Formats: sequence, structure tokens, C-alpha cells
Amino acid sequence: MYYNNDTLIFLDGNWVKAKDSSADLYSQTLHYGAGVFEGIRSYKTENGANVFKAKEHYERLHYSAEKMHIKLPYSVEELIRLTYQLLEKNGLEDAYIRPLVYLGENMQLQPTNKVHVMLCAWEWGRYLGNTGLRLMTSSFQRPNPKSCFVEAKVTGHYTNSILATTEAKQKGFDEALLLDMNGYIAEGPGANFFYEKGGKLFTAPLGNILAGITRQTILDLAKELDFTVEEKYFTPKDVYEADGAFFTGTAAEVAGIESLDNKRFNLKWEDTMGYTLSNAYMNRVREKEYKLFELV
Ligand code: PMP
Repeated sequence: MYYNNDTLIFLDGNWVKAKDSSADLYSQTLHYGAGVFEGIRSYKTENGANVFKAKEHYERLHYSAEKMHIKLPYSVEELIRLTYQLLEKNGLEDAYIRPLVYLGENMQLQPTNKVHVMLCAWEWGRYLGNTGLRLMTSSFQRPNPKSCFVEAKVTGHYTNSILATTEAKQKGFDEALLLDMNGYIAEGPGANFFYEKGGKLFTAPLGNILAGITRQTILDLAKELDFTVEEKYFTPKDVYEADGAFFTGTAAEVAGIESLDNKRFNLKWEDTMGYTLSNAYMNRVREKEYKLFELV
């Protein structure tokens, strides 16, 4: 699914076939989860492939690497250039791009200067699908910001996400919604969360969540659409009475949510502010600005 016999990836300065490439089994990242990565999308536009918010994603990759004491050997500009080459070499326009920075052999709990950079891409539909999601409040909390850098995209942080999604699926839900260490709703396992109530949108403030690039795009679009958004702490109980809700993320884009803990929201997805934002988002990523207010 992610690669075939012809797929090319960028690995430490070379373009190599995915099927012929390998990583060291003594990698510190493999043993301890000390690697950093990104999830980026490119979209087909009238002017060719557009790597959406490429600069923001690679700046976050640099931030994540710095927090994990990893020296990233490529600048933001170089990484953007390599990403366009990656798409061209694989004949991709609508694609999901996965840069991964992983470490070489090291069994110590200290940084290593053996740093590897891999870029790959594949065609990937909307991560959480297109239907109204049924969420459950997870029994797992998001990591405490005093135990790690929650705004860094670190491979090891995703064990928490895997536990939460797996629990939700095993209980018959589509996805989990996680609380922070104080019992307020933080975010999903791989996406930020918004809800609508009385014509206003609410989302958790930065601090205990990943600072989503899609979240910021939605805040920008909401401003352009004259939608009020309040960043505040809230509980599952507040959300049970919501009119609507949605997730935002690069892979998920804007994904409509139908219920939390089997409490259905008041409005049909098509009648929510989230739906309008979802259309505005898809027009923005495809550079159809003049159609911002039209349906896709
Ligand atoms: N929260 C978490 C935990 C995530 O993994 C992601 C996906 N990167 C997001 C939020 C959304 O971030 P972005 O919009 O930058 O993709």
C-alpha cells in the first residue's frame, strides 16, 4: 500500500528504491522512540502539485529535532526542494508525505550524532474517512507537558495515540478523544478537536496539545468567514450538548464528528460551521481561493 517496486524515497542524500532500503536494527529510534517526523499533504492544483504549508511543517520538524537533541542536516528550504523532487520522481500530485528523522545505533539514553533523514510519499485518502465519526472519551490521557515536549512530533509519543485508537475501536467507536492531565478535552490521537455551540466554535488552547497546522489554518479561515472561535478548556459534559464537532489534521483534513460517548450532536453535519470550514479548507489547499465560499 505504501510503496511498490518502483517507489523512490530520499534516504541520507540518495534517491533509492523503497523496496531495497533498510534501517539498522540497533537504531535508538527503534528501541526507544527517539525520532521525529512530519505528516504533510500535497494537493493537485491548476499550477501543479502544491505542498500545503510546507514551510510550517518543516519548521515544526526542526523544532521537534531540536527538542530531542537531534541535529537535522537539512534546512527548511532544502527539505521543501527535496519534497517537490520526491513527488516528481514518483509521479505524485495528490499525496501524503512522510519525512522521518531517525537515529543510528545507540543503546544509551543520550543523543547520538548518527542522524538519518528519510522522505517518502504515497497516495492516501482522508485518514478518518468521510462519514460522521462516533467518538469515545479515552481512558488514556494525553502526555503531560512536564513529561515530554507535547508540541514536538516525536515517534515515541504515538504509543499513546495507538493505545487510545485501539481502545476506541475495540469498544465499537471510530476514534478516541483524549483528556489532558487536568481532565479537560485535549485532542484526538492524530488530530485537533473543535466543537460548535450556539453559533460559536470552541477548541482547546495550546499547551497540552500538538499545535496543529490545520488547526491554525481553520482559525485563519474562521476569521475570514467571521466565525467566532474561543480557545478555552472544556470537559466532555460541555461537548455532550454541542451542535456539532470536527477534527482537524493534515491526514484527517476536516472530519465531521457525529457523537461523543453516544451523545449525538444537535445539527446535521451539512448544517454546521464545521461543514462550511471543511469546504473552505479544501478550496484553500487546492488554491481555489475565489471559490472559498462555494461547495466542493
Ligand atoms: N494532534 C496530534 C496528536 C497529531 O498527531 C496531529 C497530526 N500531526 C494533529 C494534532 C494535527 O496536526 P496537523 O494539523 O499539523 O497535521
